[in-house]
Amino acid sequence: MNLVLLHDSDFIAPDVARLTGRRYEHITRVHRVAAGDTLVVGVENGRVGDGTIVRIDANAIEMRVVLDRDPPHALPLTLIVALPRPKVLNRVIASATSMGVKHIHLINAWRVEKSYWSSPRLAPENMREQAIAGLEQARDTMMPVIETHRFFRRFVEELTHDDTLRLVAHPHAQDACPRDLHAPVTLAIGPEGGFIAEEIASFERAGFRAVTIGARILRVETAVAALIARLF
Ligand code: SAH
Repeated sequence: MNLVLLHDSDFIAPDVARLTGRRYEHITRVHRVAAGDTLVVGVENGRVGDGTIVRIDANAIEMRVVLDRDPPHALPLTLIVALPRPKVLNRVIASATSMGVKHIHLINAWRVEKSYWSSPRLAPENMREQAIAGLEQARDTMMPVIETHRFFRRFVEELTHDDTLRLVAHPHAQDACPRDLHAPVTLAIGPEGGFIAEEIASFERAGFRAVTIGARILRVETAVAALIARLF
């Protein structure tokens, strides 16, 4: 936890936050703070600053908060990911969030196992928890929006036209993925088994270009990080 994410409901005075539960445990056990110590804090969807511990009880901590900085810039990237295996889903949400992604669409695809759609990890509370882990990792405060789409065709066909560069990551594509773009991108990542040819064709009809980052086939979470690092 490189930043303690605060919520409006934590504030017991305009500049004093009181924390219990997970954050209390983490701050006292891992950071082993004492009164007077300072931690980096941020308010959900708000500013970043410092929290000075003013009180430690048996199950709560109070800190005086000064918010004097903005969170880091968001990436101009909309990420479309074919719904991965539940465990991988958690990692993808946390790591994409830590890299600054603010919009994630989880979509169905031919090679997405049906059972993944009934995973409890798709519950908004779980996805929110993973996103918070990513924000805390990267000292960010701006929550991503995560949407789920059960119908591949409908999702791709109904994508509204925008001015983003549309790319679909596909190990077997002809074109190499571009580098160091300073423009908004919509990037689609396939399931563990990859997108099938018909799906790549659907994306292409919607203005996407299939691109590769090399002959090595990467795991979904590795591909997400490698593609983002290359694009921005
Ligand atoms: N067996 C599948 C690979 C799926 S890997 C196949 O042969 O297509 C899961 C997803 O990660 C892919 O659909 C793609 O979106 C992305 N990916 C993995 N390695 C990649 C690479 N070298 N170039 C581009 N995208 C890649």
